[in-house]
Amino acid sequence: MSDERAEQLVDALEEVRARIGRAAQMASRDSTDITLVAVTKRFPAADVVRLWELGVTDVAENRHQEAADKHAEVVGLLGGSGPKWHFVGQLQSNKAKAIAAYSDSVDTVDRPQLVSALSAGALRAGREIDVLVQVSLAADPEAERHRGGCPPAEVARLAQSVAVAPGLRLGGVMGMAPLGGDPEAAFAILAATAALVQEAHPQADQISAGMSGDLEAAIAAGATQVRLGTALLGERPTLR
Ligand SMILES: *Cc1c(COP(=O)(O)O)cnc(C)c1O
Repeated sequence: MSDERAEQLVDALEEVRARIGRAAQMASRDSTDITLVAVTKRFPAADVVRLWELGVTDVAENRHQEAADKHAEVVGLLGGSGPKWHFVGQLQSNKAKAIAAYSDSVDTVDRPQLVSALSAGALRAGREIDVLVQVSLAADPEAERHRGGCPPAEVARLAQSVAVAPGLRLGGVMGMAPLGGDPEAAFAILAATAALVQEAHPQADQISAGMSGDLEAAIAAGATQVRLGTALLGERPTLR
């Protein structure tokens, strides 16, 4: 696809890859250990295809209906190949089964009810799904309840339930810096939580952290996946 939008994405991709490279270098890390996850919410399926053609391997969505429609459209355009689909939105248990039908990774699992629903969905779809436990890093959990997340003290138990659930593969943890808070302090808590999880589950080595505004702090703290929307795709169109 060669068009104006593709050219925009080429430039933005070059910029974010350079940012990731610099941040990795500052942290004495290898940038190939950091996966760029493009958050394509509100953007069309055509952008997913463009990004895939530019070498982006992972995309993320945060609303079930939009994700399901876009996934179907991209499969129609790309056939069997295509990016790995992450779900990064707040999950309702009654939609978890449906989300399991098209998601390769669900990065926002924050309570036990979701584990059983996703496991059932994965079994029904005959697939294995990667799961990240979302850790709440909110300074004021009540104020950020809509953003989800499991309290750090409860993560080990939730991770264990994912690890033994049929159809699910525990990949690690995910977190979001608190609104208006200090990302460095928050990502340090996430890193410590990730280390505890990995002690019990050595293969669960993924840390999804860092968005357009704080990817440097996340990479310094050990993030292996950064979730970038605005920096890559531009300002998001508002919801209708
Ligand atoms: C939208 C979203 C992002 C991307 O945010 P940007 O600031 O636009 O990079 C990352 N993670 C989650 C969970 C999101 O919902």
